[in-house]
This record gives sequence, C-alpha cells and structure tokens, in this order.
Amino acid sequence: MLKFRKFSEFCLLLEKISSTLELAAKISEFIISIEDDEDLYNSVTFLMGRVYPPWDEREVGVGIGLIYEALRIATGKSRAETEDIVRDTGDIGLAAERVLKDKKQTSLFVEELTIDRLRRVFDSMSSLTGERSQKKKIRSLIDLYISASPLESRYLTRLLLGEMRLGVGEGIIRDSIARAWNINSGVVERAYMITNDFGRVAVVAKNEGEEGLKKLKIRLHIPVRMMLAQLSEGIDRAIQEMGKVAVEWKFDGSRVQVHWGDGKLTIFSRRLENVTKALPEIAEDVRKNVREDVILDGEVVAMKDGRPMPFQHILRRFRRKHEVSKMVEKIPIIVQFFDILYEDGRETIDLPLEERRRILESAVKPSERIRIAKHVITSNPDEINKIYNEALKAGHEGAMLKNPVSAYTPGKRGKNWLKLKAGVETLDLVVVGGEWGEGKRSHLISSYELACFDQETGNLVKVGKVATGFTDEQLEEFTEMFKQIVEFEEGKKMTFMPKNVFEVGYQEIQKSPKYEGGYALRFPRFVRLRDDKDVDEADTLERIASLYEAQSKDSRI
Ligand code: AMP
Repeated sequence: MLKFRKFSEFCLLLEKISSTLELAAKISEFIISIEDDEDLYNSVTFLMGRVYPPWDEREVGVGIGLIYEALRIATGKSRAETEDIVRDTGDIGLAAERVLKDKKQTSLFVEELTIDRLRRVFDSMSSLTGERSQKKKIRSLIDLYISASPLESRYLTRLLLGEMRLGVGEGIIRDSIARAWNINSGVVERAYMITNDFGRVAVVAKNEGEEGLKKLKIRLHIPVRMMLAQLSEGIDRAIQEMGKVAVEWKFDGSRVQVHWGDGKLTIFSRRLENVTKALPEIAEDVRKNVREDVILDGEVVAMKDGRPMPFQHILRRFRRKHEVSKMVEKIPIIVQFFDILYEDGRETIDLPLEERRRILESAVKPSERIRIAKHVITSNPDEINKIYNEALKAGHEGAMLKNPVSAYTPGKRGKNWLKLKAGVETLDLVVVGGEWGEGKRSHLISSYELACFDQETGNLVKVGKVATGFTDEQLEEFTEMFKQIVEFEEGKKMTFMPKNVFEVGYQEIQKSPKYEGGYALRFPRFVRLRDDKDVDEADTLERIASLYEAQSKDSRI
C-alpha cells in the first residue's frame, strides 16, 4: 500500500524541477514503480490536483474556510496566525505545513496516512449531505491533519483545494504514461480525450499496454473532450483550404454534450461538468424527441422573443442548483445540435462530418426546444457572407466554417472548424485579486486584478485591474462568489485562488515597468465571466506581446 509520505516526498522533488522533460521522466519512474492498480489510479489523479475526474458529480466540498477551521482545532493556532503565514508565503499548503510543524513535537504517534486511506476519507466526505455534513467534514479533516506529517499536510491541503502547484499539466502526465509503458503519446492522448480520466488511462496502459488503450471506446455518460475551433483568416482562405465549406451559424450560447442511453440522460458543459440538473426542460425534450443511445454535441442558447439573451444568462442557468424551475421560466433556453459522436453502440467520430450530419438528422426530431443547426455546403463566398450576416442580424456571434469531409477530433483546435467572428479582440484573463469599493459600493468587491500566463514559467503574471463594465447586479453576484475563495485580505485588498476567468476588452496594451510581465492594459472593461473556460485556457503573455506588436504596427500606418 502506497504511503502518503512517499507520495508527498515525491511531490517535493517535483516542485524543485522546472524542465518538463525531466518532470515527465521522474513521474514515469514513479508511476511504473506503483504495484497496486488503485494506488496508481489515485496517485495519477492526485498529481493533477484532482480527487475525481472533472465530470464526476462527486466532490469533496472542502473550501478554504473548512481548512482554516480544521487547522485551528488540530494545532491550536488561531486563523489569524495561519493567515499571516499565507500572506508571507502566498500558499495555504505551506501555511498548513508550518503550523503543524510547530505543533508536531508534542503529538503522539498516530496511524500513518496511505493513499488508500485518503481515498476512503475523500469518498466518505463527498457522500455527506445535509446540515451536519460540515461538522463531520471538519472532524475528518482534523483526523487527517493529526495523522499527517507537516510535509504531508502541505500536499493534503493543496489537493483538497485542487491546486498542487507542481507545474504538472495534462501534457506532462500524458508523456509520463507514454514513457512508463513505452506507448506512443498520440495513443495516450486519444485515450485521454475520450475518457477524461488519466487515472484510468494509466491503469489500462500498465495492464494492457498500447493495444489496451487503442481499444478504449467512447462510453455513454462519460464525456468526450469537445472539438474546438480556430479563428478563420477569412472566407476566401477557408474556401481555398477546404474547397467546399459547411457553414453554420455560430450561436451565442454555451456548449453542451448530451448523453442519452440506458434510460439515463446526462448533460455536460464545455468544461465537462455535469449540468443535467440545471437544464431539466432540455433533458425532458431530448428524452421525448431523440432516439436513444446517442451522444450529441450542440450549443444551448437562451432565447427571449426570438432573440438570444446575453450569454451571462446561460451561465446563471448552469450554476443554479436550487429552485431550478423558477429559472426555467425566467431564462428559457433551446439547444441547437450540430454533431453526433456516438450512435447505437458505435463511435461516429471518425466518420466524415457529412455522414455524421445525416445520422444526426435521423436521430433527432426537432421540437420546441430542440433544433438541428442549419447547415449549408457551398464554395460560394457570397453565400457564406450572407449566412454570416444573417447570424449577426439575428443576434448571434458569426459563422462556423467546417470541413465537410473531416473527422471529429476530440479536444483539438484544428483547421477543420474555423470561426468567423465580428468585433474587437478581447482577452481572457485569470482573476487573482480584488478590492472593496468606496462609498455606496463599499460592501462590494468592485475592482478585480487580472493575470495572464507566462508560458515559459507557467506562472501567472498580473497585467491590470478591471473596475468598469460591471452592472450592480453582477458585482453583487461576483462579491458573493469571490468571497468564497479569498486566500487572504490586507486592508481593502485581497487575493483570490486563481479559479475564474474574465473576458475583458481594453483600449490599448501598453509597455509597463509596473507589472512583472512588462505589459499593462489601458482602460480595461469587463465583458463577461468565462465560466466555460478553465484557468489554464486563459491568454498568455505571448499573445499579449503579439497583440501589442500588431497594435504598434497599426499605429505606424
Ligand atoms: P470560441 O469559444 O470562441 O472558441 O468558439 C467555439 C465555440 O463556439 C464552441 O465551443 C461552441 O460553444 C460555439 N458554437 C456556436 N455555434 C457553433 C456551431 N455551429 N458549431 C460549433 N461550435 C459552435
């Protein structure tokens, strides 16, 4: 049985490595040495800072507040003392380690932690519901902290908060598995894109090798990574590259993947979260109007009086957990299906788009809330332009240009789907801090600090603050939301755990010595919360640099 001490020592070693090649080499050595399948599953999942795959409905449900409380009881140190350390180190994991170190001299020998015990405790915590669940969770946490060494507490805390800070992303895990069992990394990648569970991929790789991974198939109720689109370089270019182009509207909504089979219906968001309960009317209509045993890809759109409502409304629908029926009336939504990934016990992703379309049309009967996205094949640029303008006029984002003979490539942002959009450039940035407002906004967090990724180091670097573009209602909502993830406060300012992405517009990018990345946004303006994006999909310093270059070129003309 794998000791958590061994796992933690390994994490410490990883923290000191910055080369991705070396990280993959070390992880492959580590995972190949794990004998037990469950230990392997859990270790790979934990290394990615997850307890469950993203699509799993279970969650441990331990936030910063519970951790502070458990640490206070386990160590006798006040929350303020622990917060002071967080302020110094910027990391609750290190703070937990330090407060436990001070305490440890006096504690007696207790049962050592194993990966297996953590799994059992996490599973039992995630099954708790009801009023007393918080108390029970705190008790379980205290037990864990009492058993943990200071170093183990560092990683236990980070794991619970979903942030291991090891610089280990999906690419590194993929390469480690490939290397450990001598498998082509493309095969590992594909297995991951259709299972979204690296733990399972590692176990299959260990026991059945490359052949086993190749045999992994798309399964109902386990989401497939969604195919993504690139920005189009124009209609003529698309015709040049594809010959014939399949043109659809680019709907202004949010992506969903609907699994319907075995009497069960599951809806996943673009981030692969299970949003079935939030969209009951869509679930009901699909049950009635779609042939069973399918996986469909589409966009949900909030519609009122024949026009799409702002995207923000859909996210409110997605997030809603209680009194969903009220929201169903307030924000009516429909779904536009445009693809099919699985039908009648077989994958369809390798079939050409045109064939998938035919299957889609035969499986779905359009209804009040269910549509099949209109789809025209043409090589006439005027016709494409006409469809694009119709979409904009109807309040949507533009058009999608798809290659009619292409396969569905899960998780890929390739050249077979191109998006034609209007409007100015915006940036998707991570919200890393905030500040309480003044006067009548003093009860609201009214300014938000933004950061992008430095691709070279993997660090977040700040590029500005946004305080305009919000409605009062949005500020109320964000204040509630961000209050839950405050790492620490200092005066009116606070830092947040990097969990959310804002899309922001700006007037100009400037060079600025004030920020470590060297760039700052001038007049940033909030556009929307990108709740459909993970933090690691935020924009990079490289993109900001290239937008800066492009902008200075423009101003020279
Ligand atoms: P973006 O998020 O700007 O990269 O654009 C890609 C997104 O457009 C997809 O993830 C879908 O959510 C959305 N979309 C809207 N209409 C379509 C369509 N007809 N085909 C594919 N994606 C669409």
